[in-house]
Amino acid sequence: MKTKLIQPGVVTLVGSGPGDPDLLTVKAARAIQQATLIVFDNLVSEEIRALFPDTATQFYVGKAKGNHCLTQDEINQLLIDYAKSGVDVCRVKGGDAFVFGRGGEEMLLLAKKGIHVEVIPGITAASGCSTYANIPLTHRGLAQGCTFITAHADKELTANWSALATLNQTLVIYMGLSKTEMISDSLIHHGMDSNTPVALIENGCTRKQRVFTGRLVELTQLKNQNQIQSPALIVIGEVVTVANQMHWLEQLSERSSSTDAAQQQMKLSA
Ligand code: SAH
Repeated sequence: MKTKLIQPGVVTLVGSGPGDPDLLTVKAARAIQQATLIVFDNLVSEEIRALFPDTATQFYVGKAKGNHCLTQDEINQLLIDYAKSGVDVCRVKGGDAFVFGRGGEEMLLLAKKGIHVEVIPGITAASGCSTYANIPLTHRGLAQGCTFITAHADKELTANWSALATLNQTLVIYMGLSKTEMISDSLIHHGMDSNTPVALIENGCTRKQRVFTGRLVELTQLKNQNQIQSPALIVIGEVVTVANQMHWLEQLSERSSSTDAAQQQMKLSA
């Protein structure tokens, strides 16, 4: 008797962006709408989860720091098992799967198992969160480039601090919240000006977004005073001053429009 071969399902790695569902690409939104099985991470925002079709089976695999629902190996196995049973899997990740998202590992592993993988890029946190905070990552006269790094390491963090401290570029640090002291100390120790502007962006691109700016030397203080929680992004560099200018300009235009309104009111009542 011949056993019938099951055609493996396709796994689609979907980058869902930093939180705002309007930042989903058309392709990502379509993949989510058409999904029958969704495996999603902690970083996928509530607003995006609300778009998951009722008909789709949903599998939360967590991965908040220190609170892993499933290990990466277990997640990999889950994806392999489902695909091998002939089910298409929509694997939804926060931001972009290929930027500190382990998307590359999942893609290679699935391909090795003969499973077809598609990857849909998403807006990464550095881009989305800094834009929503009015911080351009590059800006003429302030930063000619930008470096993304992660402060997360399985063992010891081995960043080249002396290179990072002297690049004169914007630095965006992912997963850096628990290491703010080490980050500012290392950069200052290797020559970065302690007054370099910094921003902490918490829950960027969601309704809960909070942004705080200060100086490199007070990064930890800024975090503690404002009780910043994960997910949060650290932006270091002169470009942060653009957000401060915008804040000031917005206040100015609010003030002048309320003065206009008051003058209008006075004219009417005269
Ligand atoms: N693949 C994701 C990054 C995963 S690493 C991407 O491309 O964006 C997780 C880290 O990303 C968090 O610890 C935090 O530093 C950052 N991050 C992701 N989403 C964020 C958000 N909405 N607000 C602030 N930081 C965010």
